[in-house]
Amino acid sequence: MRRQKSFQNDLTSLYLVATPIGNLSEMTPRAIEVLKSVSVIAAEDTRNTQKLLQHFQIETRLISHHAYNEKESAQGILKLLESGQNVALVSDAGYPLISDPGYMVVQAVLQAGYNVIPVSGSSAALNALIASGLVTQPFLFYGFLPSTDKDFRQALNQLKAYPMTLIFYEAPHRIKKTLAKMIPLLGDRKAVIARELTKKFEEFLRGTLSELAELDEEFKGELVLIVEGNGDPKPEVVDLSEINERIQAYIDSGISASQAIRQVAEESGLNKHDLYNAYHKTGDVS
Ligand code: SAM
Repeated sequence: MRRQKSFQNDLTSLYLVATPIGNLSEMTPRAIEVLKSVSVIAAEDTRNTQKLLQHFQIETRLISHHAYNEKESAQGILKLLESGQNVALVSDAGYPLISDPGYMVVQAVLQAGYNVIPVSGSSAALNALIASGLVTQPFLFYGFLPSTDKDFRQALNQLKAYPMTLIFYEAPHRIKKTLAKMIPLLGDRKAVIARELTKKFEEFLRGTLSELAELDEEFKGELVLIVEGNGDPKPEVVDLSEINERIQAYIDSGISASQAIRQVAEESGLNKHDLYNAYHKTGDVS
């Protein structure tokens, strides 16, 4: 256990500073003040952040802090803190650490005993959630879903029973495919796309997953996808004979029983060992 009294000690601090997600008027006076007062700003993309700093006449030295150099960069930030210099961490937009780098450096800084202090600002996830019209709590922020089909299915099979409203980040070129893949896994739930938040072309598309998937348009810009939680989170009743038929069909197509079980486990989100027991009639699938 360690208590951090953020403003009542002489330790140096790592400030986690949220920056605007589009509209520069959402830069807070406190964020500007902190970014001016620290010795160094660690940024995901120094060229991007340089523009922000220029706009607000902030002349603090910038260093780069990418996901792929996070370990080394964390060591550099620790050295700065050790030498008595305060550091701020920013990402390109919104909060650092939220689908952005920073977690490793926070771990390292806390481990070393320095302060970690958040500075509030814009959040795409929360803006999208509160204006979505869907239940606002409880909610689950997921961020970006995995890109491979197998991991995508696994993630959604885990999420499908959750009653919480689900918040996803997604790239515009992948959203149509994501919506189409979600429907068989989650059912046709209410869903909202919140696009270009705080910017000139901000829009909300409120409907169901299938209505959004059927839209005949290319989505552009940045977007958040909000999906209704499971309103009836009872344990699913598994139809054993149907599961066994699916396993048998794979076996008939020429693959081994264990491969077939693995395949059906992956598709259905059911436990591989339960399926094995069910297939061999030694137990139940639950
Ligand atoms: N750190 C950021 C935060 O606090 O939200 C998220 C960074 S993540 C790399 C970028 C994703 O955030 C985008 O692909 C999009 O899903 C979401 N996003 C960021 N700005 C947005 C905006 N103005 N409107 C809608 N979504 C936005």
